[in-house]
Amino acid sequence: MPKKRQKSLEFRASQVGKCPVLLALEKMNADMEPVPLIVQRIMEEGSKREDDVVAWLETKIDSVDSRQQETLWPLGSYTITGHIDGVALVTSDDQLEDSEGEPILPGSYLLEIKVLGEQRRQILREKGLAGFPQYRMQLASYWAGLNQGDPDSGLECLEPGLLPGALYVVQEWSNPDRIEVRQFSREYMDKMVFCVADELMSRLAEVEYMLRGDGWDEKYQDPGPLGCGDCPARYQCFPELRPEKVPSGDNLFNTLEEYRQAHAVEKAAASQKKACQALFQTVMEERGTAKLLLADESVSLSEQTRTNLSYAKLPADLQRMVTPYVTESNFTQVRVNLRKGGLS
Ligand code: SF4
Repeated sequence: MPKKRQKSLEFRASQVGKCPVLLALEKMNADMEPVPLIVQRIMEEGSKREDDVVAWLETKIDSVDSRQQETLWPLGSYTITGHIDGVALVTSDDQLEDSEGEPILPGSYLLEIKVLGEQRRQILREKGLAGFPQYRMQLASYWAGLNQGDPDSGLECLEPGLLPGALYVVQEWSNPDRIEVRQFSREYMDKMVFCVADELMSRLAEVEYMLRGDGWDEKYQDPGPLGCGDCPARYQCFPELRPEKVPSGDNLFNTLEEYRQAHAVEKAAASQKKACQALFQTVMEERGTAKLLLADESVSLSEQTRTNLSYAKLPADLQRMVTPYVTESNFTQVRVNLRKGGLS
């Protein structure tokens, strides 16, 4: 007869490293901002890319199994659940290497896939998972969940001896062909779990204090390297930044419409000015003149050079430093001198 599990606070491995205030507010079902459409699209694209990375891996190793297998890590009075990206089975016939050129030895590895932009890949290269505390807690939670699996949970539990370590496979967001594999040994992963367990226990205790107390407390705010900008709880934490929703029918909508029209006129005028300048330039080049007089107004052509960096006001030593990055390009300026002071 299975033992009855004592009800504990449950967190997702992919979320557990987030700001404790956010975790508490989520548990309280606080009013949150919806995930922006662009972030939703990125997430959808990320899961499609995961399939591509698995397909790539399967051209190099025997197979990827146990995709989305559930994990469960009972951590003190908390439970951390998750779904792993898979288990990578490497055989002695396979020739997969990690990003350092070291071979991946045969065995079944916990597999974690990430699709990261260049900036994040750079952080990963320089600092490893220490640069991404949230990812580190996620991976440690999967590892602990797979290895310690709760016999009463009914989840399939992999034999610890079967896992020589974890593979962290990173695909570059803007260049899907660029995929690098990092391997973490069993010893490294066990040590990671040991360190993360303490860290998580104190973070989750903070969440628990907030849930038991009067609500969230700003002293537990820990936005992490990504800051609060996209956090769904940003207006809970910073109500002064919450935008005021203007009701439909308000006069401000008329002002907005006027602005929209002015903007359209401005765009059309700019495009019209460019067309006139181009015509003046063509005619003047055909006639071989650099200046036209039209009554007391004039049009002139002059050769100009522009640089991609405006560095004229920099101190001399800084100018020398940026000089290699400055490029120059030539262009012809068409100057129309209008009578009432309008120069363009
Ligand atoms: S807005 Fe910032 S401080 Fe508040 S919950 Fe989100 S990440 Fe934490």
